Amino acid sequence: MQVDMTGRTALVTGGSKGLGLATAEKMAQNGAHVAIVARDSAGLAQARARILERTPGATVLTVAADVARADDIRAIHEAVVKEFGRVDILVNNAGQRAAAPFADITDEAWGADIQLKLMACVRLTRCVWPAMISNRWGRVINVLNTYAKTPVGGSAPTAVTRAAQMALTKVLAHEGGPHNVLVNALLVGLVKTDQVVRQHRDSGSPLGLDDFMTLQATNHRVPLGRMGEAEEFANLACFLASGAGSYINGTAINVDGGMAPAV
Ligand code: NDP
Repeated sequence: MQVDMTGRTALVTGGSKGLGLATAEKMAQNGAHVAIVARDSAGLAQARARILERTPGATVLTVAADVARADDIRAIHEAVVKEFGRVDILVNNAGQRAAAPFADITDEAWGADIQLKLMACVRLTRCVWPAMISNRWGRVINVLNTYAKTPVGGSAPTAVTRAAQMALTKVLAHEGGPHNVLVNALLVGLVKTDQVVRQHRDSGSPLGLDDFMTLQATNHRVPLGRMGEAEEFANLACFLASGAGSYINGTAINVDGGMAPAV
């Protein structure tokens, strides 16, 4: 996906691995200055090196922080504005799987999921919002999962948190639209990332990783018959974040090979 993002500044949370790294990498390839956020400094350094290897001369800022903490959110915003002057594109992506039977989910687990996903999205968007509005240009992309539209038993707390973020996406799209600040959500199905590698390891499955992933796609009845690649996700994120996506606002797009029963 080649789009022109020259001179744009992008802040990608969870940018050291998986979908976030693929997105930051592609945005850098397309000319954007990128800031990537994650908790682990070593992972961030590796990610930065990978982006620079593929796009020599790219501008890549790393910020080690926990998006579930309000103080860290303020520090992330300050660091990026200090380096780049502003944030044009915010990708709220950091997160991890959280799904269990309802009766087993404690208050602490509910609270942790809400802080990591919903409140991180609220707080970071609130930081970048005023400048996007006054610049009359901004893009916010919220990375959610397909349970936001199609929750099932055993999918809480994440299904509930993601549905709240989808509602927030629409609220922001209405408030930002008049100022050319566009807000959309991407609902991920099954995409190959470190998260999936961890699931494979924790499952104790005798299958190799590739067979495990194919079985997951089969079990979840993915019409395309396979898991997605992080790059396929990043293509759409770049399109939305570029001038090419200038009339797409307030949508929640499934990136799931057709898996979710809802359109
Ligand atoms: P990965 O586990 O591969 O990467 C997660 C990234 O987020 C890492 O960079 C990680 O770095 C960072 N991160 C996690 N927690 C925090 C935190 N508290 N503060 C800052 N950074 C954090 O995940 P994916 O790329 O697969 O997932 C990206 C998003 O997409 C997530 O929100 C996930 O829930 C969602 N998703 C993914 C699906 C998939 O199939 N891959 C399916 C549905 C949704 P570090 O650990 O160093 O902090």
